[in-house]
Amino acid sequence: MACPPRTRRPRPGQASTVSPATENRPVDAPEPIEPTRATNPAVAPVSDRRPGADSTGVPVPVPSTSAPGNNPPSTGGILDSIFSSKSELFRGSREVLRDSYVPSRLPHREQQIRQVAEILGPALRGDLPSNLLIYGKIGTGKTAVVAQVRQDIQRRTDFSAHISFVTVNCGNIDTPYSLLQTIGNTFAKNEAERIPTGWSLDRVQAGMRRLMDTKGGILLLVLDEVDRLVARSGDNVLYTLSQINTELDEARLAIIGVSNDLKFTNHLDARVRSRLNEEKILFPPYDATQLQDILRDRAHEAFRDGVVDPGVVERCAAYAALENGDARRALALLRLSAEMAERDHAKRITPDHVVKAKNRLEQDIIIDCCRTLPPHCKVLLYAILQSFERRRNGVLTGEVYDSYRRLAERLGLQPLHARSISNYVSELESLGLIRATIVSRGRGGRTREIIVDVPISETMPALEEDPLIAPVGRPKSRGQMLLTNFDNPARTGPF
Ligand code: ADP
Ligand code: MG
Repeated sequence: MACPPRTRRPRPGQASTVSPATENRPVDAPEPIEPTRATNPAVAPVSDRRPGADSTGVPVPVPSTSAPGNNPPSTGGILDSIFSSKSELFRGSREVLRDSYVPSRLPHREQQIRQVAEILGPALRGDLPSNLLIYGKIGTGKTAVVAQVRQDIQRRTDFSAHISFVTVNCGNIDTPYSLLQTIGNTFAKNEAERIPTGWSLDRVQAGMRRLMDTKGGILLLVLDEVDRLVARSGDNVLYTLSQINTELDEARLAIIGVSNDLKFTNHLDARVRSRLNEEKILFPPYDATQLQDILRDRAHEAFRDGVVDPGVVERCAAYAALENGDARRALALLRLSAEMAERDHAKRITPDHVVKAKNRLEQDIIIDCCRTLPPHCKVLLYAILQSFERRRNGVLTGEVYDSYRRLAERLGLQPLHARSISNYVSELESLGLIRATIVSRGRGGRTREIIVDVPISETMPALEEDPLIAPVGRPKSRGQMLLTNFDNPARTGPF
């Protein structure tokens, strides 16, 4: 089965639509559905989550609360019973093992935390920090370190009044236009101040600058996964942002770019590179011993005492060390191992559960990868899956574009231009979700034929769970569940 590669290569971006000198609409005009601050997945509120008091338990046989002969318990009653049952393995919330959780300690990243803090430190004295580029392979703790330093700065409330942190996950952003709109709107104090969809790009830029100036002070803009945006749309938007201080009166902006691609700067225009690169920090991959330390910390927080057998942490760490030292993968393995143990109704997690978890993980990675695609890319993938499901055969890019356009219109989105969609086809291919081969069409020239490389039966429901796709999704069959077949190895290959 295809599996998303661990790093993503930027491709030369298309001509960017961001040009301070033009009054034109962007090529990829904004869609009428405007992301709101509450629902936009790209804007990550800093997570200070700690294990909650709620414990989500394992599904267990439902004790009958009714007298014999009475009606069975209502659905609400069944769910109450399931959710309030205590897990034998987990101490509290299993969120502790999820990516969104920012642990209080980040072992083996002390040096990087200090470096980031030193570079951003001047902000606490009211001075503008240098722009910073953080780069390293996926799962090396970049996002976590930045989130921790952010929390630390925000905790110093005496100083933080004049510092605003904005974190945008560029992986979820379709166009430079929506990036600028998203950034601007994080400073809007009410609905009336927000930049609406439909403005020209120049007006959005001016609106963003106005909102920044109204906020004033030092603005620290974290562009996480910035390499993905540049791969899609080129680096003009970074140029715009990196020279914005010349046009601001009351605010000053420092950019913290975070890239999973080690060669990211090679793809930047020299001016953008020198501005963004004022300071840079490399995050090296973790080795197996370091991953063990990270996992032990988390296991201690997540699980009840004595439920993790010897060898479990070591095995998770060893597998993840082979995968470029990716802490995310190590944690996912540990979480899935616990879920495997729960499904076996086991009282302890054993190394055998880790082996089962490893087999399951590839599928989960694909599903997660689909969930984090930007909106138009999700619509495109869904269109491809639909066509492929109907035909069970390769689909040509022209047909795919037509299906995408129809779906986007049904969803009330303004379709992106064919060139952007062609870039997204390449992105889906580099993520291992589809394969595209060039086919000759005689005098008609050459086109690409697309084949789906993921299990449709699981990927489509995953996309349909997304509120964006749900309105055009297939009706759910009764009792349909996502990933119900992980125990059946025969189903782990494509289709
Ligand atoms: P990146 O941004 O480099 O892809 P993340 O910061 O998202 O990686 O880290 C992936 C996962 O691993 C997150 O759940 C994060 O909390 C965890 N993690 C990474 N490094 C550490 C560390 N040194 N200690 C504890 N957890 C870590
Ligand atoms: Mg990250």
